[in-house]
Amino acid sequence: MPRRHSYSMRFRCPKCHRAGSAKWEEHERIALPHGGHSAILKSVSEGFRAGPQDEITCAACAARVVFGHG
Ligand SMILES: [Zn+2]
Repeated sequence: MPRRHSYSMRFRCPKCHRAGSAKWEEHERIALPHGGHSAILKSVSEGFRAGPQDEITCAACAARVVFGHG
């Protein structure tokens, strides 16, 4: 039976420093061409928007929130 792990992550807008949080759900069955596990964005807190590619953008200044790059 496949198990799903969901977790939430806190982040800040790189531009206006508004704080937010996102909820993710891991899907072990999805294989990515470049390896690694895949997580699907389930929801984001108010003030942020989730895009079609699971990207998160700030609703106030439209800056894109990037994870894992510093
Ligand atoms: Zn912002």
